[in-house]
Amino acid sequence: MKKPALHWQIIIGMIAGVLAGLLAGSLGTSAFIRVWISPFGTIFINLLKLIAVPLVLVSLIVGMSNLKDISRLSPMGTKTFVLFLLTTIMAITIGLLTVNIINPGLSFSPEKREELKAMYSSKVEERSAMAQDFQTKGPLQFVVDTVPENLFMSLGDNKRMLQVIFFALIFGIAMVMLPEKQTETVRKFFLEANDIVLKIVDIIMKFAPYGVFALMAGMVADFSSGGGVLELFQALGLYSFAVVFGLFMMLLLVYPLMLKIFTKIPVKKFYQDILPAQMLGFSTSSSAAALPVTMKCSEEKLGLREEVTSFCLPIGATVNMDGTSLYQAVAAVFIAQAFGVDLSLGQQLTIVLMATLASIGAAPVPGAGMVMLIVILQSVGLNAEGLGLIFAVDRILDMFRTVVNITSNVTVAAIVDRMEYKQT
Ligand code: ASP
Repeated sequence: MKKPALHWQIIIGMIAGVLAGLLAGSLGTSAFIRVWISPFGTIFINLLKLIAVPLVLVSLIVGMSNLKDISRLSPMGTKTFVLFLLTTIMAITIGLLTVNIINPGLSFSPEKREELKAMYSSKVEERSAMAQDFQTKGPLQFVVDTVPENLFMSLGDNKRMLQVIFFALIFGIAMVMLPEKQTETVRKFFLEANDIVLKIVDIIMKFAPYGVFALMAGMVADFSSGGGVLELFQALGLYSFAVVFGLFMMLLLVYPLMLKIFTKIPVKKFYQDILPAQMLGFSTSSSAAALPVTMKCSEEKLGLREEVTSFCLPIGATVNMDGTSLYQAVAAVFIAQAFGVDLSLGQQLTIVLMATLASIGAAPVPGAGMVMLIVILQSVGLNAEGLGLIFAVDRILDMFRTVVNITSNVTVAAIVDRMEYKQT
């Protein structure tokens, strides 16, 4: 019998994981899942992270060497960043509109608010400490952080992906500037290394259905044994609905429209082709972990050029987070409403600016968007303790926003690809 396509295998893995988690929760055997199943999810994420840095390094160098004409880099870079900014601002605007129409915080009872605040206060303190690091450094710190002082330290730390990108870019630029004959061996080396790394991604993906099974089972088992979570979810239902509704607007309206206007890719094909990457984003809550698969789907299925994907996607994974910024806008207004604070137009505009910066500063890992939310809350005079209100549902919303982050990056890559190579 023929095996179903990979994205079906992943979906089946996810559903089976949810069922296993629910079953374990109701039978009281969550510990079994935690000890014997969850580690396979961790192994799977580790494998994806393991290959991410070599993949970005090698494929960006290969991509640069494909450019031939280095003067192409600057228009490509400009288009990429303009599109990143544009999609982010659209996302925040949709977030603000949604939350101002649904008003999830207005009907939120003060008792529930105090209960949640007390329940999550220690966790909020932890996140506040993390956010402080960002706040003390200033907005230009991320540019400084992009330029590494030691390549090997950058390679050794997944959080320094932008530094690896920076090195690969100057390496590639220097290579293209030299006569082709002089760099033949190195080019060949990277081309072959690229094939090997992509093969490794293939091998890891064979494990994907089991990996997502383990991840989902672990998460659901934890949730369902946590007691009362369902009740909390109900209390936060309207807020969660506002976030998810906004995210779906991006997925079903904004990106399809952009694809229709700027590319020739049929929307249905686009979504079919990137489904495995989206599903991985959903189950890992990390655009960084999903990056290898996002790159592979974009090149092999969508047919985008390596010089575009290797540039747009890794940079996008770290700086372009539409889903995160949309969520931050909704969450900030929700918290303000729950505390009875009326945000002025000026404050809402501050949210637009801060959410743009915060999504650039947020790392592509689970929960990063929430830490950066603190920066936004404080910029409009709200207390970080408001974070306690949304803690219970954050992990689930993180899954959805990561899907949007990934989709946005591929949409931008597809548009840049089309704009740069109009003739095909
Ligand atoms: N988990 C998100 C991502 O990796 C970031 C966030 O919003 O927390 O894209």
